[in-house]
Amino acid sequence: MNAGGPRQVSMPAMAEIDRVIFGPDPFQLSEGEQANLRLKLIREAVEYHLHHCAPFRAYAARLHFSIDDVQCGDDLERIPQLPTGLFKRVVVSSGIDKAVCRPCTSSGTQGRLSVVWRDRCTIQRLLGSIQTAIAGLIDDPPEKDVLVVNLGPNQAEAGDLWFAYVMSLIELAYITRHMVVDGRFDPSEAVVAIERAKREAKVVVVTGPPVLLRQVSEAALRTKRVTTSNSEFTVVTAGGWKRPDGSGLDRQALTELVASAFRLQTSGRIRDAFNQVELNTVIFECSSGAKHVPPWVHVCTRDIRTLTPQPNDHIGLLSYLDASALSYPAFLISDDVGRVKEGRCACGRYGPTIEIQRRIERAEHWGCALKMNAFLEPDMPEIWGP
Ligand SMILES: [Zn+2]
Repeated sequence: MNAGGPRQVSMPAMAEIDRVIFGPDPFQLSEGEQANLRLKLIREAVEYHLHHCAPFRAYAARLHFSIDDVQCGDDLERIPQLPTGLFKRVVVSSGIDKAVCRPCTSSGTQGRLSVVWRDRCTIQRLLGSIQTAIAGLIDDPPEKDVLVVNLGPNQAEAGDLWFAYVMSLIELAYITRHMVVDGRFDPSEAVVAIERAKREAKVVVVTGPPVLLRQVSEAALRTKRVTTSNSEFTVVTAGGWKRPDGSGLDRQALTELVASAFRLQTSGRIRDAFNQVELNTVIFECSSGAKHVPPWVHVCTRDIRTLTPQPNDHIGLLSYLDASALSYPAFLISDDVGRVKEGRCACGRYGPTIEIQRRIERAEHWGCALKMNAFLEPDMPEIWGP
């Protein structure tokens, strides 16, 4: 029973994971190459967090987990995972310095919020996952040709609110115009900004939460200002599929509305991006509408009642092993129900993709929470870390 032990484990200056995140398009790798990388990078990350996060090490020991148990891809499911609810109760830390780390707060509307502390390296890798996806899944445009219209605030104004912050990060990679200024959003002004961007840039990417995209599309239809242009136009929805009153926003209806408002020929130009505050990677859709998982993340589903890992293509709780987080162990059991698929996607790429169907329901949550709490110690310290 060796849960990592006192062995010194540190990240080299240019870790392999950084070469993958910031290197050439990892989605072009073969299925086997992606699987090998995934195993290696996640194994390294687990060793790192076993060493740097004492409660995680103790938790792993209680589950009789040893890193030596992880020898092939099938063994990844043995790695201990944390229910995301833990981040609502304690500070999960693999050695954070609050003076230089950023608290990232979930954008949830009910109950306690999750707070995830991230250091500079962890945030840079998160941005890297966005760049990788834009480059790899949106046809690899040269950065200078891209103009982003973000239907949200800039980084300074986004503060700690998670999705606004994630989308504002895009300004570090591409020329970006932000449409929320001093807390104010005007859909007609956004239409004008999008039209201007189409005249100025070869590739225009509009990002924003579905609810704001709907407002902009309605304004575009109302004002009849939309012109045809030669620029490549991609819409990336990011954030909750919820209306302000809490009811669901229909994906198909929004796709049709955006396509008609901006005269898009195919729905493949409207992509959804998935993230939750505890996950350090943004997962984007390809032109075939599949959410591709990069090779530093492993996703499996677990049975909703027993939490037992399931084979691919089974509906269950989506659970993640994300090797890119340094300031906390991003090994998570989420509240989302969905499935994982393997093999060749219709877009031609190989590797796993995920489908998110719904949030876990209250009745299911009860048994599941009991099971999860049994994993964790009864009296938890405020800081779950060194
Ligand atoms: Zn695809």
